[in-house]
Amino acid sequence: MKLPKVNDLGFFEIRLESIGGLGANGAGKMIAEVGVLSQGYNGATFSSYGSEKKGSPIKSFVRFADDKTPVKVNSTIEEPHIIAVFHMNLLKIPTTLMGVKPDSVIILNTSMDPDEARKFAKLHAGTLVCIDATKIAMEENLPATNTVIMGAMLNYMPFLDKDIFEEIIRKQFANKPHVLEENIRAFKRGMEEGTEKVFKKDGKFPYLPYKKPNPKYGKNSQTIGGVLVEAGNSTLKDLSVTRTGRIPVFTSSVCINCGQCDIVCPDMALNFERGSDGKMYLKGVDYQYCKGCLKCVEICPTRKKEGEDNHALKVGFETDYDVASLTKPHHAHQKK
Ligand code: SF4
Ligand code: SF4
Repeated sequence: MKLPKVNDLGFFEIRLESIGGLGANGAGKMIAEVGVLSQGYNGATFSSYGSEKKGSPIKSFVRFADDKTPVKVNSTIEEPHIIAVFHMNLLKIPTTLMGVKPDSVIILNTSMDPDEARKFAKLHAGTLVCIDATKIAMEENLPATNTVIMGAMLNYMPFLDKDIFEEIIRKQFANKPHVLEENIRAFKRGMEEGTEKVFKKDGKFPYLPYKKPNPKYGKNSQTIGGVLVEAGNSTLKDLSVTRTGRIPVFTSSVCINCGQCDIVCPDMALNFERGSDGKMYLKGVDYQYCKGCLKCVEICPTRKKEGEDNHALKVGFETDYDVASLTKPHHAHQKK
């Protein structure tokens, strides 16, 4: 089957904007495997990320061409035909939707409806598809949202065969049988549960052309000794907690201040303060740094003593909380 549209070089291009741990790299590979190895298109896939760690922003790219057009380009994709945004927090980074044109398809993982989501994303124009992939993944007990998002994307890649796609997902999860059928269900739900709306150019939001990221400091302008003068700039990339969909919720009245959660926490996200008696007391979770691994919940001894419903750290769903206020240290503010 012919590619539905191509750019000047003859490529159909896909950009996945994600956070490490949500499975965009794996999704890019599976999409390319379906097209290139099973259906005979030419293509390439690659990802771009900094330190390989859960929680940092990553991009993954897939390029398809027909079997007569070689793909010899491995530059980043500037004007994608399809862009999938794996988490709404990525839209806080102004470059996320760069190069999205009126004929692009934008798949957003969000619980918002398309009108709300367009406003939040300041989307110029395009076909917007909203899918609550985090909720579906949680309902299917999956740690990553990638199969849901691939399902939503497949509706806009008619040149890829759904049954072959399902086979590739089965192959990918063959050694993880405990999540195999869950991923297949998530993929099918991704195909069915998205809400689409087409937004034409109406002047509400400007077009964001793709700009190559130019470093602020180069050989002629760097500070003496290469010192970074913007202290704490990583706080601007607020991608914490929300990537798993689950968060630890603290109840101080049950805490015995044993400190075990502090020992297992990989990101020092638990805030202890010294009391007037000189002892250390846990005051809460700093969600700016918490990655949602839930190791603290697993180890907390009150869990064993008090049962599932009444322990000092328990699992909460991100969607039940006001994520913006969660970034303040020491407090978990539940939505009224
Ligand atoms: S879930 Fe718990 S252990 Fe994991 S990063 Fe957050 S506070 Fe630390
Ligand atoms: S939350 Fe649990 S593990 Fe952490 S200090 Fe309190 S009782 Fe100990």
